[in-house]
Formats: sequence, structure tokens, C-alpha cells
Amino acid sequence: MSKRDYYEVLGISNSASADEIKKAYRKLARTYHPDVNKADDAEVKFKEVQEAYEVLSDTQKRSQYDQFGHIDPNQGMGGGGGGFGQDMGGFGDIFDMFFGGGGRQQNPNAPKRGADLQYSMTIEFKEAVFGKEMDITIPRTETCDDCHGSGAKKGTSAETCSHCQGTGQEEVVQNTAFGRIVNRRVCRHCQGKGKIIKSKCGSCHGAGSVQKQRKIHIKIPAGVDDGAQLRVSGEGEAGQRGGPSGDLYVVIRVKSHEFFERDGDDIYCEVPLTFAQAALGDEIEVPTLTGKVKLKIPSGTQTDTYFRLKGKGVAKLRGYGQGDQHVKVVVVTPSHLSDKEKELLEEFANLNGEQTHKKNQSFFDKMKKAFLG
Ligand SMILES: [Zn+2]
Ligand SMILES: [Zn+2]
Repeated sequence: MSKRDYYEVLGISNSASADEIKKAYRKLARTYHPDVNKADDAEVKFKEVQEAYEVLSDTQKRSQYDQFGHIDPNQGMGGGGGGFGQDMGGFGDIFDMFFGGGGRQQNPNAPKRGADLQYSMTIEFKEAVFGKEMDITIPRTETCDDCHGSGAKKGTSAETCSHCQGTGQEEVVQNTAFGRIVNRRVCRHCQGKGKIIKSKCGSCHGAGSVQKQRKIHIKIPAGVDDGAQLRVSGEGEAGQRGGPSGDLYVVIRVKSHEFFERDGDDIYCEVPLTFAQAALGDEIEVPTLTGKVKLKIPSGTQTDTYFRLKGKGVAKLRGYGQGDQHVKVVVVTPSHLSDKEKELLEEFANLNGEQTHKKNQSFFDKMKKAFLG
């Protein structure tokens, strides 16, 4: 559901003064107050009016709204629920008071799952191909061993906050135009924790958790590719109040290889051939991931021809089997010839029936014709 503009909700212009806003709000709040108005949509309307006033009556919130528009009230609550703060007060609480709703309060004593961690590492080309087991060291938050997470000194324990009876919230009563408003906010005595630690644990200074370097053994599967992400379950940050740990995500970066290139499960490489090898055929040695193999080059092989070495690629990460290796042969034209070599090549050219000069001549003749029609 898209939200209506707050000024429109209160029926005022966006240059309305604080007084005008208040007047408009009082009038509408009386109209839609659920004690007075029994229409089906009164609740929704009242809520809308309430929310609009909440923002527009606050100079800071109003200027933010003027600049950025509506902001999701649940924002900042995602990812394990960090935001327990001032922003949640106000509207949510007054609404709860009228409608007895459960609201969005968070029990400060509820278990909380630890955050996920991400760790990025670079491995060698061959390590990705064959897999690797290794230890990595990551900094992470762990439950304090000395106090087992309570944050209290040995032999003592955290006491339930007497101001909020452990709820982490305190109530503030205000008298307004249409009655008493009970506003709940974070308890100032325990900062919303619901507990007060009289003597703090010396190791964690009351936090209940400590930063540690943690060694984790990981198994990189054979065939892993650049950019792959491994999930190591339960090795993220420690949970709180008995909540489960988060997960660790290891992002794998694979170094390039000077000779091989990889495309999925297949390996590509380039091998030079002399003109004689290409023309006469030969058996050459080609490096593969598992050592050298012999490759037969048939006579009359053209440059840039690919040969496939079946099963010489990378093990498939999912399923069975291996990819292939593709060998591209490149015929290298010699750049420096000895007199003897030149002589032999010219002789070859003559024998081959393609007398070099004549052939060039006929080629240029053809070109001329092509251009002149
Ligand atoms: Zn408290
Ligand atoms: Zn401790």
C-alpha cells in the first residue's frame, strides 16, 4: 500500500505553520478517534493522521520528510534486529495503547542470533582445481568464557532492572488534547537491556562477549571457481542470551595461471607449432593439470586449430566427471632465417608450385581488377 502524503492527510499546505498543523491534527484526531468514530476505516484513518502529525510536528522529522519523503518505520530493524531505539517510540506506542496491539517491541531478554560474517580469500589456480583443506583465522565476537555471556563478575549475576522490571522499557505519561498518552521508551536505567550489572566481569567489561581470533578449518572442494561462496554453518558471530551463532561465508577468489585459462570445467591453453610441425605432422608434449601428455598433430594442421584432451579439465563441482582441456595450436612464422634456411624455403616454394614472385604478381592483378571493375 503506498502511503499518502502527510500534508494531504492533515489537509494542510506544505508551508503550514506549527500551529496550523496542530489545529488540523486535533480536529482530525477527534473525528477519527476509534472511541468516537465507529466506521470501519476509522482506525486506519486515525493511524494515518497520528503518523502524519508525529512527523510534521517534529521540526527535524518534518525537514527530513520534506527532503526524502516517507521512510519505512521498520528500517534498521532487519538483520537480526539491531534497532531498539527512540524511533520506535511515539506512533507505535500510542497506537498500542488504543488498540491493544502487540506492537513491535522487542523483549530485551529474548535470544538473538549472531551476525553472519564474510571472509574473502585468494587461492592458487591449482588449489581451486584440486581442492584444499586449510585453517583460516578470523576475528569474531565470542561469548565471554569467564561470565558465560552474563557480563557479571564471577560469583555475581546481573540483576533485573528494578525501574522497568526487566522489560527494558519505561512508560512516560503525557496529558494531551484528547487524553492521557502513555509513551513507552527505552529504559534509561538499563539502556533497554532489562538487567543491571553491579560488578562487571573483568574480561569483557560487562559486554558478555569478547573479540577473539578464531582458527577455523575449512575444506575447499575440488572444482571451486572464482567468486564461489562457501557457507560454514555456525561459525559467524556468537548469538546473545542463548541465541544461535551466525554463519561464516568464505568468498573464494582464484588467481589466474600463466599457462592455463579456465571456463567452467574446461581448461584452455595455447601451444606453439613450427611451420614444419604443422605441415608434416608431429607428436608434441602438452602440459595438463596432472602432468604432461602426448598430443598427435596430423600433417597439414592449420594455425588456431583446437585439439581436445578429453577428461583433462576440472572435476565437476556438482555431479561426476571432469571437463576437457582444449589445446589451441598456433603456427609460428620464423622471423630470422639463415641463408641456408632461406634457400631451402625458396626451393620449397618453387616445388610447391607457388613461385613467390609470380603469385604476388597475380594477386595484385586481381586486386586492380576488383577496384577498377
Ligand atoms: Zn530498566
Ligand atoms: Zn565476561
